[in-house]
Amino acid sequence: MQNPDLTVDNEGRTSGRIQRANSLAGDVYEAIFAQLMSLGIAPGSRITVDNLVKEFNVSHTPIREALGRLEGEGLVVKTHLIGYRAAPQITRRRFDELYELRLLLEPAAAAKATATLDDERLAILREAAGVMARRVGKDERLRYSNFARQDAIFHDKIMEFAQNELIRETLNHQHTHFHIFRLMYHSRVTEEALDEHEAILAAFAAGDAGAAKKAMRVHIENSRDRLLPAFE
Ligand SMILES: [Zn+2]
Repeated sequence: MQNPDLTVDNEGRTSGRIQRANSLAGDVYEAIFAQLMSLGIAPGSRITVDNLVKEFNVSHTPIREALGRLEGEGLVVKTHLIGYRAAPQITRRRFDELYELRLLLEPAAAAKATATLDDERLAILREAAGVMARRVGKDERLRYSNFARQDAIFHDKIMEFAQNELIRETLNHQHTHFHIFRLMYHSRVTEEALDEHEAILAAFAAGDAGAAKKAMRVHIENSRDRLLPAFE
């Protein structure tokens, strides 16, 4: 599953068969993103453009475009004369720092956001949470990577509604969710988070800032505890 020099494993083939469409570069990006999130491409492993060209049966251009975008998201590292690698796994220390940062910022922001939520904003958050719950498509890796992206959107929207752009940028800049989801590819990571998101939404819907703060804290602490085994 985690062959360090292989770009795409057998389970990823379904996402590898890419139709030539307008959004070719976007499709290539999504397929590589899914492999990175679900550890089909192992952290730190080499990513060879020629291999991806063969795998997806596309030209170099959309591959390079996709890798450039992933580089901007901190998921791919480009080294002069060597080429591309999947970004290494975050260290335990970085993991602890990330969760400390999240626990300092996100529960308070959730409480602050509560007061700003009208029906429209609540619907936006429900939609973000709802997309995660949908079990569409057979490709588990794609589903997992979609969940990771959607979780990032869900949390970012709450930060937006809390109306502190500096806090929002600080968390965004870390690409927190992408690194966290890449620690472990396991259904527990997604299944349990869904219930916790529901608890956050319920607190928002009730207009209960204290409950929103607590639900967010519980969610982040549980998320940390779910992923800790990745370092054992
Ligand atoms: Zn979440």
